Amino acid sequence: MMDSSKNKDASNSGGQDSSSDTTEDDKPELCPGFKDADAFVKYGLGAVLSATKASAGLPQAGDEFDFYRSFPGFQEFCESQGDKLLICMSQIMQHHGCRSHLRDRSKLTGLEERFDLVVDSNDVILERVGMLLDEADGVNRSQQPVMPAGFQPPKIVVSSWNRKGSSSGSRSETFKLLHAKNVARPQLKFKEKVDNSNTPFIPKIFIKPNAIKPLPSYFSNKQIRKERPEDLDVPAALADFIHQQRTREHVDDMFAHPYQFEIDHLTITDSLLLKPEPQMYKELSETKLTYIDTLEELVTLNEKLCKQNEFAVDLEHHSYRSFLGITCLMQISTREEDFIIDTLELRSEMYILNESFTDPAIVKVFHGADSDIEWLQRDFGLYIVNLFDTHQASRALNLARHSLDHLLKHYCNVDADKRYQLADWRIRPLPEEMVQYARSDTHYLLYIYDRMRAQLLDFNHGQLGLLQSVWNKSKDISLKKYIKPIYTEDSYLEVQRKQKKSYNTQQLAAFRLLFAWRDKLARQEDESTGYVLPTHMMNKISEELPKEPQGIIACCNPVPPLVRQQVNELHLLVQQAREMPLLKAEIAAQKKKGLTPVKKPEVTLFGPHDTSRVSESDIPQFLSHEMPVKQGTLFSEEMDLDIDVNKLRSLMAKPKITIFEEVVTKKAEDSLSGTQMKARRIIESFENPFRMYLPSDVHVNKNAKFDPNSKIFEISKRWKLQSIEQQQKELEAKKKAKEEARKVTEERKKAKKSYQESLQDVATVRQQAAESGKAVGKKRDRVPSEGGESTPKPTKKTKPPQPEAASADTFTPFDYSQSQLKVFSSGAKAKDSTQFDPYRQGHDSKKKFSKGPKSNPGAGNRSMSYMAAKSNRGFRHNWPKR
Ligand code: AMP
Ligand code: MN
Ligand code: ZN
Repeated sequence: MMDSSKNKDASNSGGQDSSSDTTEDDKPELCPGFKDADAFVKYGLGAVLSATKASAGLPQAGDEFDFYRSFPGFQEFCESQGDKLLICMSQIMQHHGCRSHLRDRSKLTGLEERFDLVVDSNDVILERVGMLLDEADGVNRSQQPVMPAGFQPPKIVVSSWNRKGSSSGSRSETFKLLHAKNVARPQLKFKEKVDNSNTPFIPKIFIKPNAIKPLPSYFSNKQIRKERPEDLDVPAALADFIHQQRTREHVDDMFAHPYQFEIDHLTITDSLLLKPEPQMYKELSETKLTYIDTLEELVTLNEKLCKQNEFAVDLEHHSYRSFLGITCLMQISTREEDFIIDTLELRSEMYILNESFTDPAIVKVFHGADSDIEWLQRDFGLYIVNLFDTHQASRALNLARHSLDHLLKHYCNVDADKRYQLADWRIRPLPEEMVQYARSDTHYLLYIYDRMRAQLLDFNHGQLGLLQSVWNKSKDISLKKYIKPIYTEDSYLEVQRKQKKSYNTQQLAAFRLLFAWRDKLARQEDESTGYVLPTHMMNKISEELPKEPQGIIACCNPVPPLVRQQVNELHLLVQQAREMPLLKAEIAAQKKKGLTPVKKPEVTLFGPHDTSRVSESDIPQFLSHEMPVKQGTLFSEEMDLDIDVNKLRSLMAKPKITIFEEVVTKKAEDSLSGTQMKARRIIESFENPFRMYLPSDVHVNKNAKFDPNSKIFEISKRWKLQSIEQQQKELEAKKKAKEEARKVTEERKKAKKSYQESLQDVATVRQQAAESGKAVGKKRDRVPSEGGESTPKPTKKTKPPQPEAASADTFTPFDYSQSQLKVFSSGAKAKDSTQFDPYRQGHDSKKKFSKGPKSNPGAGNRSMSYMAAKSNRGFRHNWPKR
């Protein structure tokens, strides 16, 4: 950081004698004493360099410093210089509208917090630099997001609960949340209810066009897929057991990328590696725009897309009023036309686009597809085979910036107005301004795609390497799998750690309890965690541990609706946290030295799927957390969070557990019949089929905790099972390798055959669409047609032969009629389409999954409000450049 006051000296020492002599060149000075930016940078670098040198020359920490420090003169000098530096830094920070209490020793303790302040300020300043650079480049991000005037008044909530907008009105510290009031919840219209349960995501696909490897039976067989343990007509424990057995064999399929094989075996055709002649985009005003919100229109679009060599795709998304997020809009542009699909309306029908989206002969151009790929899978079961990501191309070309607006400016000289990016995309009917914005996200993309490919080849003197690398990177992105946020006992630690706040045991307990409450409620109500209770409010409550419910309200401004509604529950949680013992540092030290017997977390050695139907309410909530975690160590000097996390398992307060063990064991046993007990033991000896996809640790089986008999039984059984399993796995792996080659050819034949078979005697999607149109105005209640009027099938134009794909002459249009559209009609799915069941969710979310690398820890911490005028530099968020 530079002290701006030094600029004055600079005019003397900086070697710029232009201050009095500027009349000759008309250019005004950049700032006093500096002719232009170069001069300023040169001086700045010199100053930084000499400061660095000087600081390196200071007495080193340790003996040398201590020695010098023993001289009062040195000490005084240090202090005065230190103060001077702090004042200087404070001034700079103030100038930029940042908090600047660096010097105020009474208000802030600890070097760490001051350091945080500096880091924050640096972020803010760099952020501003980024924006200014953008502006200089012609991209204007400084405007506030607006809502279309005709529709609803611009409703910009400055969410002061997120971060205080500084009084100086500093833009960069003000978080804005574009928020339209009274938008109907689109979730209410979804035919298939959103699955917020705390279980891993299973692909939605049930029919696989363009397959080289057929879709595993788990997905194509509706029966297996839709079966749920709850629906079996046997005792619950047994039902789970049966269900596990059935799904067990499908586990590998259930979590694989359905198009992994096809993408792995995709070869980019030679024509795509040649230098293209860029095809100019059509003017927006001359381009037809189609808004698509019926199945019939969607089918027509799909037919059109199947005839293209390439098309561009983009999505708009909403994440504040939904737990997982909702894709609200899909934009598609061909060379000739623009399309906007209302994906809220067609959510359950979108899957038909897989025919063009997974066609290896058609290039799908996205900009920054990382999130799009996941959203497509999560909401529609859509996949992309043959992706070109212009964001990756921009990186490979080393462009100044990789955002879409930069590319638009650079290649098309179009000024994109990204203000709508964070608009509430759930609004219907979609205001014209938003339509225009959305459309421009894909309209120019194919031209940019041409230009970039040409440039990638030029850049590399005609060699393919760079272009090929972009194709490969894009391939990797299309292989991304959506991972659902999973709540684990440790999730809160990830979030808490990021707060960089040292909490005592009570505060930490409060944070943990609030975190669990928030996650549960967010899933139940299908709201984002940020909507339920923003993290910084959670912090405030944890820090203050209010004694009265009113105190909780006072921590929140504005008060989130669900907090107001459940303030009494929250108050109970805070009280519960207050009852935690505040352990002293010595105790922690003792524990570290191992003076306290360490309770081995043996229960975590086995983790069969928790299938018991022991009434959840019988088990005290947050049982495993009754005891303080990270005891005392919070007060210790050499705090090491990572170690603490491991330690906390061994720091469980034994006495309390025993009380519960006794009580609950009795209860549980009383309530179960002999057969049920037996069934339970059998069940518990099996593994959770999800386990391998879950974070590495095994989750704790509640029964085992409460039932010592079954515990012993389980342990021995488990070990046996594991070792046998291990051996079998190794054997299988060897076999597999041998068979691999043979299988590939076999599977391809099979896929072709099953695909051909699926085409016989079935109506086309178009027929179904026509049929559905007839259905008493209710386009959603579709009935599979029985030989309705036939509509011409799409004829595909000839394409360069694809090595892995079916050749052009054997091509038959894909047909969806076997796709059991009924799945989505309300009647056929009575059991499945039940409303979101908070109690079931509650049950699920209490299952104890432990965390691991893939557990998407950020999910719990999604802040739903965004920095205004974000320059996409990713200082805080890691959003891909769009
Ligand atoms: P885009 O590809 O730029 O049209 O963005 C697609 C969606 O991503 C938008 O509708 C937003 O929901 C979301 N999004 C894009 N950029 C950001 C950001 N910086 N912060 C939060 N959400 C974003
Ligand atoms: Mn996008
Ligand atoms: Zn977009």
